[in-house]
Amino acid sequence: MRLRNITGSREVIAASAYVVHGEKECRRRWKEIFGNDSPIHIEIGMGKGKFLHTMARLHPEVNYVGIEKYSSVLLRAIQKMEEEELPNLKFIRMDAEEITEVFAPGEVERIYLNFSDPWPKDRHARRRLPSRQFLARYDVILKDGGELEFKTDNRQLFDFAVGELAPAGWKARAVTYDLHGDRALMEGNVMTEYEEKFSAQGNPINKYIIYREK
Ligand code: SAM
Repeated sequence: MRLRNITGSREVIAASAYVVHGEKECRRRWKEIFGNDSPIHIEIGMGKGKFLHTMARLHPEVNYVGIEKYSSVLLRAIQKMEEEELPNLKFIRMDAEEITEVFAPGEVERIYLNFSDPWPKDRHARRRLPSRQFLARYDVILKDGGELEFKTDNRQLFDFAVGELAPAGWKARAVTYDLHGDRALMEGNVMTEYEEKFSAQGNPINKYIIYREK
């Protein structure tokens, strides 16, 4: 998702109290940033932030961090926070490739990937957020017993993601090729912007929940 360049979005982000600045100094400082030691859940590739904003409202006992690469998209998430401020939600504008510089080993309890960009060309496979290269980064920041949840309507990307699990040392706790038809996995499901759009078009939604044995 890349919106047209919105004039001034970088300036708005730089001045926003909802955005964590100097992100590379955040490691081990998250308790201080949120003012409590609640567990940290993150969404990588948050887009306009609807999913995370809803999650933060529903679960005040969890601290959420939304990561988004593009300023024009992050701006929308900031606007949502201006309408309804939530103390347990912060944003970072960054490329997820640098995620291990922002969270210390074991600092994150849960990771969400929702409707990640597919990067369909083989030579771009390592850029896919559920690739083994990214799983290795998540392995560092995720605490023992932590989980990662991934949803997408893109079957090719999902099949690729499932195929990456064993070589990367991860295991599936749950896999479905029709989330909206799975009563157990739908419990507590919060729809993302893309999920609303693609499920309305009749596309089945794939989801896995994964962990590593530690
Ligand atoms: N998660 C949202 C949803 O489900 O509605 C947005 C999905 S959108 C297809 C993917 C988002 O991931 C885009 O906003 C894109 O800018 C962001 N993104 C892609 N690669 C990223 C990366 N390496 N680091 C941070 N954000 C990334």
